[in-house]
Amino acid sequence: MDAETKKTRGMISIVVPCFNESRGLVLLHERLARAIQSLPMSVEILFVDDGSEDDTVDVIHELQRADSHIGLLQLSRNFGKEAALTAGLEYARGDAVIVLDADLQDPPESIPEMVQAWREGYDIVAMKRADRSSDTFFKRKTAGWYYAILGKLTAVRIPQNVGDFRLLSRRAVDALSQLPERCRYMKGIFAWIGYRTIEIPYKREPRAAGDTKLPFLKLLALALDGITSFSIAPLRLASAAGAAVAVGALLYALAVFAKTLLYGDPVAGFPTLVIMISFLGGMQLLAIGLLGEYIGRLLIESKQRPTYLVDSVELPHFEPDIVSLPRRSAAIR
Ligand code: UDP
Ligand code: MG
Repeated sequence: MDAETKKTRGMISIVVPCFNESRGLVLLHERLARAIQSLPMSVEILFVDDGSEDDTVDVIHELQRADSHIGLLQLSRNFGKEAALTAGLEYARGDAVIVLDADLQDPPESIPEMVQAWREGYDIVAMKRADRSSDTFFKRKTAGWYYAILGKLTAVRIPQNVGDFRLLSRRAVDALSQLPERCRYMKGIFAWIGYRTIEIPYKREPRAAGDTKLPFLKLLALALDGITSFSIAPLRLASAAGAAVAVGALLYALAVFAKTLLYGDPVAGFPTLVIMISFLGGMQLLAIGLLGEYIGRLLIESKQRPTYLVDSVELPHFEPDIVSLPRRSAAIR
């Protein structure tokens, strides 16, 4: 490690995506400030306002007056958590970046432990939910099935019960920004980059205030994103199903042919016909829909739109001898 890196190894960025979180932010800041007090390096807290419609921004401004370590990145509208995270990671200047939900489901008290693991040499410290008792039975079940299917379909191992709560070293963050895709399934992207990873169990708490900003349908869309961004197995499955049906149809045709020759069976089998036609019709529509999922994502990627747009940036000021890192290495983009 060269002298330059050693000198700057001392800053941690904490990125907090916020969408209508004003009710919980003061408590979050309180707990966060207490948790990071003992860290032997400087810290910046970067709130990313993802187009909140409540007074989230005012609350953050209020906090900024009391704490000079707080920065605010305001996106031009609501782009979704994945985009907000991407934005935060791109603007964070720390030698390690911690991603934290604003609703206190990720306990800030875990941060010193995460930093410790990073200092021991891990690039990614992923926090694993030890139990999901704060989630509903339905969410637990569906999440379990989803991870099982995802695990079967993808080549990258996407760890189970690990959310976005994690620490990333500088080189891991730089690696992330080299992935230009627009459909940002962060769990998959985090897993894709690799590097030395450690999983630390923690207890996920219930939301401190407000409601979930990721209702079932949004989660479903995200889940689909996860599969289509990291696997083309469903397309292969469609081809395989098509082949199986074709072979079946051929065998059936032979059977009917033989039966007609042997027994002279005249006109019959209307029900079979109807069943076959509707079955095949369904299969075809399903396969076309599947194709559509991928083509839709191709369309989104081909437009090359930015993942997010920034309205305003206020980064906290740091003593020049501590901060000297460029925001992004020049090699990227
Ligand atoms: N979030 C965001 N933009 C969105 C939705 C959510 O920045 O469009 C943030 C939200 O403020 C929170 C985090 O993402 O800090 C996780 O959201 P939430 O707690 O609602 O999701 P859940 O924990 O229920 O999966
Ligand atoms: Mg939450």
